[in-house]
Amino acid sequence: MFVFGNEYKRSDIHAEYGGQRQGGISTPARHDFVMLFTGEQGRRYGYLDDWTEEGLFLFTGEGQHGDMSFVRGNAAIRDHAANRKDLHLFEYVRRGYVRYVGQMVCTGFREPRRADIDGNSRRVIIFELMPVNAFDETVLSGEKISDDEMWGQPIVSLREGAVAYSTTARTPAERIAFVRYRTNAIRVYALRRANGVCEGCGEDAPFKTSSGRPYLEPHHIWRSSDAGPDHPKWVISLCPNCHRRAHYARDRATFNRRLAHIVSEKEKKS
Ligand SMILES: [Zn+2]
Ligand SMILES: [Zn+2]
Repeated sequence: MFVFGNEYKRSDIHAEYGGQRQGGISTPARHDFVMLFTGEQGRRYGYLDDWTEEGLFLFTGEGQHGDMSFVRGNAAIRDHAANRKDLHLFEYVRRGYVRYVGQMVCTGFREPRRADIDGNSRRVIIFELMPVNAFDETVLSGEKISDDEMWGQPIVSLREGAVAYSTTARTPAERIAFVRYRTNAIRVYALRRANGVCEGCGEDAPFKTSSGRPYLEPHHIWRSSDAGPDHPKWVISLCPNCHRRAHYARDRATFNRRLAHIVSEKEKKS
């Protein structure tokens, strides 16, 4: 949809997808994504969004006066995974023109005090965003040593881990680690829920991996990308054929609706 590194005229983007034409956060009503624009508000408030050593992009929330709060655009960023919205980040290259930076995951936020444009101290929200590629290792069921522990856990506690929000993570690195853990927990949970059988077509997994586990691929229903955190309700384990169908088939919308129904029936019982 958006191509990494490409330049877009911002007004063209809104002509095609809708969403607020001004400001740093745009939430098109009829699309499953939120668009973030960096570089413009920095000039306005004197705050600069930037990358950290951990590979996080720090993005300042919206709200010009007083404490920032989790409404509208700020809520849309914080809750994007729960709301099944992708985050697309753009940076201004010159007036009216932006470059696509890529799809991001919100791993957390911080709320420091900063001066507003009138010089009054207020609480601002700084979101911690991570490129979704950082979670790519979880796209297919390529196995990692750390998975063994998750395969050994009771499936109920695995599901709890997959939906939990961390209340103890104090640092950005801890928050990244936690999102990574959740991403893995959801993937392993969906594979274990499938129990060796494709949840799409009901056929046995096509082969076993080197560690002896049935090979199936976790698919995020309704999302264009399979990376990043999600909810067990929206992740399904598929054989490679069903997985390709979910992404590329002419009837993929119908097929994904059917997959969503299958998972919701299964989740009701858990
Ligand atoms: Zn299948
Ligand atoms: Zn998929």
